[in-house]
This record gives sequence, structure tokens and C-alpha cells, in this order.
Amino acid sequence: TDPVIYFITPTAFRPAQRADLTRLSYTLAHVPNLHWIVVEDTLEPSKCVSDVINRSRVKATHLFAKTRTDMKMKYADPNWRLPRGVDQRNAALAWIRTQLSDATTGAVYFGDDDNTYDLRLFDEIRKVKKAGVWPVGIVGGLFVETPKIGANGSIESFNAVWKPERSFPIDMAAFALNLTLVLQNPNAGFSYDVPRGYQESTFLEGLGISRKNMEPLAASCSQVFVWHTRTEKPTLTKEKKKMLERYPKNI
Ligand code: UDP
Ligand code: MN
Repeated sequence: TDPVIYFITPTAFRPAQRADLTRLSYTLAHVPNLHWIVVEDTLEPSKCVSDVINRSRVKATHLFAKTRTDMKMKYADPNWRLPRGVDQRNAALAWIRTQLSDATTGAVYFGDDDNTYDLRLFDEIRKVKKAGVWPVGIVGGLFVETPKIGANGSIESFNAVWKPERSFPIDMAAFALNLTLVLQNPNAGFSYDVPRGYQESTFLEGLGISRKNMEPLAASCSQVFVWHTRTEKPTLTKEKKKMLERYPKNI
């Protein structure tokens, strides 16, 4: 049988949250054997996110983990100022390690709420033996950021331009892992103590992955099945300021 895909989505309130999550939920509703782990950046689960999850009919676990106050960005901050999703992804990993400790199959993927996913991505995620990698569209200042594959079919280099010296100069959406690897390396996770752009590299190193043993997928990294789309931040100039930092009803 197909391994279950554990699709981890950190999600934080902003005006387009419900819209982005609704669109993502309709993508995931097409995918068999998927377990959606939604981790809200809140002190308690919100009705908004609960409603979206329930309406989707996707099998899901709704967790919450509020970002440390000193690490939480304000609405007007540029998105690169601080790492995003650290506490949420760690909460999902902790849930996996306690709830699925006896699992022998499964795939783990970090799927942000604002990206765009081709359904063919999920076939690639299920192929992962240890750690799979593929191109991501519109990220890192490029149309496509991707590993470059040599004649022998393994990774030769990466085309990344932004911080190419990273051990893995790739986006969070560029890889998936076998669940057993996550269970075997209980200390691998995300951290505020790493330089900007190093979340992926630090995590993958913690799992004992090297460039050499990553599996290039998506037809030897020739196909783009995920895009790092970003929803424009609405200015809402006619709205009261306080509305931008909290939950209004049903938007
Ligand atoms: N996110 C979060 N808390 C935050 C900011 C973002 O949980 O304070 C989530 C967000 O909903 C998304 C992921 O973390 O699923 C990545 O954030 P974002 O899309 O803003 O980052 P970028 O695409 O710019 O890397
Ligand atoms: Mn994003």
C-alpha cells in the first residue's frame, strides 16, 4: 500500500489566511493517503482554521504552537526579517515522534499554506526512500531553483544564487523525507540559532543527510511540481490598524 504522506503546514493569521488555507485544502482533498498536520501560530486552535480543515474532509490533526514573542514578526515587517514556522514545524515533528513512534513507513513534507502544489508532487513524495529532492519554482530570485543532475543521475551541484555556500541551498518545499529517518534522528529540527536561510541545511544535516545521498526526483529534477508563490500582503488602508494583528470574524 502507498505510504501515508504527513503534510506539515505552519499557519499564521493574516488577512489572506483563510483564502490561502481554503485553496490548499482543496488541493489536498484530491490526494489519497494524506494526513494533514496543521500547526497554527496561536495559543489555541482558532475557529477559522478548524472550519477550513473540517470542510475539506481531509484527514487532519490540528495543533498549535505560538511563536516566541521576541521572534514574532509584525504585520509591516519584511518577510525575511526572522525565520518563519520554526516553533510550528518543531511541534509537528514532536507530534510525529510521539504519535507515530512505531511506524515503519510514511513520508514527511513541509508544505506552507501559500505555496502552489501540482498533484504530481505527491507521487514524488511517496517515492522517497530516505530524502528526496526536486526543483521549486519562483524562489531564490530564480524561475526555478534546482539541483543539477550529472550523467550518472546523482546531484552534481545546485543552481542556487542566494547563499549557494549552504550545505543544501534549497527551499523548504524542495524535499521530503522518509518518516523513519525523522524517528531515527529525534534531535533534528528547526532553530532560531541558525543564520538566515540555513533552516533547511541545519535540519537536513541533523538527519545525517548529505548532498550525495539525496535522491533527485521529478524526472531527475527536470519537472517543477511546486511553486513558492506568495500572496500579496494587502494594505487595507481603510481598515482600523488593530484589525491587522488579530482575528476579525469570518474573513
Ligand atoms: N508562518 C507562521 N508564523 C509566522 C509567519 C509564518 O506559522 O509568524 C507560516 C506561514 O503561514 C507559512 C510558513 O510559516 O505556512 C512560511 O511563512 P511565509 O509563507 O510567510 O514565508 P515565506 O514564504 O516568505 O518563506
Ligand atoms: Mn510562503
